Amino acid sequence: MELKTHWNGNGASSVLVGNVRIGAGGYTVIAGPCAVESEAQIMAAAEFVAEGGAAILRGGAFKVRTSPYDFQGLGAQGLGHLRRAGDAHGLPVVSDVVEPGDVGLVSESVDMLQVGALSMQDFALLRAVGRAEKPVLLKRGPAATIEEWLLAAEYILNEGNSQVVLCEQGIRTFDSKTPSTLDIGSVPRVKQLSHLPVLIDPSHASGASDLVLPLALAGRAAGADGLMVEVHPSPDEARTDGPHQLDKDEYLALMHALGIVHLRDDIDVIDREIVRLLARRVKGAVDIAHIKVEEGIPLRSPDREEDLLADFRQEAELLGLDAKVVHQLFVEIIEYSRHEQAEAVRKAGRSE
Ligand code: MN
Repeated sequence: MELKTHWNGNGASSVLVGNVRIGAGGYTVIAGPCAVESEAQIMAAAEFVAEGGAAILRGGAFKVRTSPYDFQGLGAQGLGHLRRAGDAHGLPVVSDVVEPGDVGLVSESVDMLQVGALSMQDFALLRAVGRAEKPVLLKRGPAATIEEWLLAAEYILNEGNSQVVLCEQGIRTFDSKTPSTLDIGSVPRVKQLSHLPVLIDPSHASGASDLVLPLALAGRAAGADGLMVEVHPSPDEARTDGPHQLDKDEYLALMHALGIVHLRDDIDVIDREIVRLLARRVKGAVDIAHIKVEEGIPLRSPDREEDLLADFRQEAELLGLDAKVVHQLFVEIIEYSRHEQAEAVRKAGRSE
């Protein structure tokens, strides 16, 4: 039988979460605390999550816990905190859904639904998220085979939702030195068997913050489409999963090791340079305007502007840019400079 999750020769799928695409050759980092504990906590986390360059914010509001006496999450209130934190920092958000009846409620607040590892074979929940209009992050259960994991995803696709991202987070092990074994081999195997994007979760797989970075690098080397990592402003005070959550510095070091901070820094430097150059251009235009007024030369030279714009369009095309967009940008810049020139000349005239 032809399964909807299986590789079908049409290439790898990608999944759009808010404005972030997972798969399609990119590398996506989802980061945030295990659980939303307060508005201040998720806001503080979101701030450094964004600073480090992760694309999506996570935070559990409805938690699946091994013990019914452990913290179960802030529920709907936590979803509100998460949404506001994501919006404040321009990050789409993902959160767990536990009960099939909560799918509608959680969908209203998040950009992506997560089905946690302990819910992987909750077939009623899988069917419910399969009918939702949101992408789904499906964790691999701690004792699930790859086949069972893909069949769990099949339940979601079979209800009409093909926006599924898989996430490997470690399988049951006999060894007490690591709580579970991150099944690195599952990443290339699943990518061979299925068209769905695959992430790894080095946090739950390691159970200890010092193992997160090496496992993250291993996952990337194995071809994962990204990772989900748990971070907390003060992991020692975390109400859940304290031992493996990264603090800000550990998280920034991880992003640096993955090469992500570097890319963002580079863009920040370029943007700052663009602003500096714009300031130089405006100042130069104003200086020239004063000289032109003194010498009685007209301020505008439309022929020169037209020649310049034609040059820029040509240059843009050579560099692989859209000539129309570059043309429009320069029309704006020239207009702005002209406005500043006129203002400066008007002020100078008044003070004389
Ligand atoms: Mn957790």
